[in-house]
Amino acid sequence: MRSHFHKLNVFLLSSLLLLPAFAQEPEAEVSTQTRPIEKQVRRTYEFKEDRVYFSNEFDGARANKIEKDETGRFVITITPENSPINPSPWYAFKVWSKKKKDIQVRLVYPEFARHRYDPKTSYDGMNWTTLDPALVVEEDKGTGTGVVDSLPRSITMTLRTGKKPLWVSAQELRTSKHVNEWMNATAKAGSFQIEEIGKSREGRPMRMLKMGNLNSKRMILVISRQHPPEVTGYFAMQAFVETIANSDELSRAFRENWGIYVVPLMNPDGVDEGHWRHNQGGVDLNRDWSDFNQAETQLVRDFLTRKEAETGGKFYFGIDFHSTWNDIYYPMNPIYEGNAPRLVARWLENIRASIPYYEPRIQPNRRLLPTRVSRNHFFAKHGMEAIVFEIGDNTPRDFIRKKGEVGAVELMKLLNGRFPRIGGF
Ligand SMILES: [Zn+2]
Repeated sequence: MRSHFHKLNVFLLSSLLLLPAFAQEPEAEVSTQTRPIEKQVRRTYEFKEDRVYFSNEFDGARANKIEKDETGRFVITITPENSPINPSPWYAFKVWSKKKKDIQVRLVYPEFARHRYDPKTSYDGMNWTTLDPALVVEEDKGTGTGVVDSLPRSITMTLRTGKKPLWVSAQELRTSKHVNEWMNATAKAGSFQIEEIGKSREGRPMRMLKMGNLNSKRMILVISRQHPPEVTGYFAMQAFVETIANSDELSRAFRENWGIYVVPLMNPDGVDEGHWRHNQGGVDLNRDWSDFNQAETQLVRDFLTRKEAETGGKFYFGIDFHSTWNDIYYPMNPIYEGNAPRLVARWLENIRASIPYYEPRIQPNRRLLPTRVSRNHFFAKHGMEAIVFEIGDNTPRDFIRKKGEVGAVELMKLLNGRFPRIGGF
């Protein structure tokens, strides 16, 4: 492994080591060896008496069991692909009825999980509305003050059904079909290329959008959706990439000098199977960037090495989009200097300056090795100035777009400005 430790500012490092905040936290090592997963049974559930029907027969669906309880509610049990697993219980189903009626649908989860995502509804699977909170009753609400322990154990929602199937989902559904359509449209509009870098574990294509100067020695990498439910991170990635792809002068100048490589859907199997977090190998992909037991991480690892050899160039910036409870940036600790020292710090300052009244939350990483997460691999192996860009589950969608756009504009300004002299911002 090529090391960038020699670039550490030793003085800074030794002073930081005195601060308890930088003490390394013990972290459970989780193996990324393939583990079994439980596939949900895909079927249509018929409640003949009520003439109500449910289905999980579509990509992205998750509804493991549906039955009617003694009070007349339809109870949907949501279970994960395997465990242990982070409690981000994804659900998605379709429901319809012969006649127009209001029905009560209850979501229940395993003991270790709580209800996390506000239900969204749609009639076309593309345009979604958050269900009116007045139609949602939270049950057995936690008494804690944290983000997780204050959540309810289950909810019951009232849904108005009719002949036309109503989609209900934890977040807006963005499956491999949607992602491919978006990639194709983006590529067509800007005459960009799409490369299949390999196949996922279950044989879905792993597709990469390639923009800009593909012979350039100056490259950046963008990835998203290692974790299937993290749709808001995906939205930010879309805005970021569309801004780089557009036809104004800033973006055109950037694309002339830089190669931009984007893998928008790192976990297509998990997304289409409606997983909570893992790939089809039952593994959290964002823990596999040191052992590389899974196809999806191997393919990106190999692409990076291959592309560096092919161009004789370097990746200067790498960004991985995710979602969590709140918006937050996880850059590398500034003690680690890669191919463009201070780039990320400058970039975050400029983002702050260009969004009025916005104070970004920034939390640098505490430990580098073993790399395990994508960002650390990007830095440790390639010297990329790398960052995890987290969007909150409930961040307003127009603000997500703005953050993605501003992020791209400020990055391009910095990288355009420093061309051709890279190395220190
Ligand atoms: Zn994530």
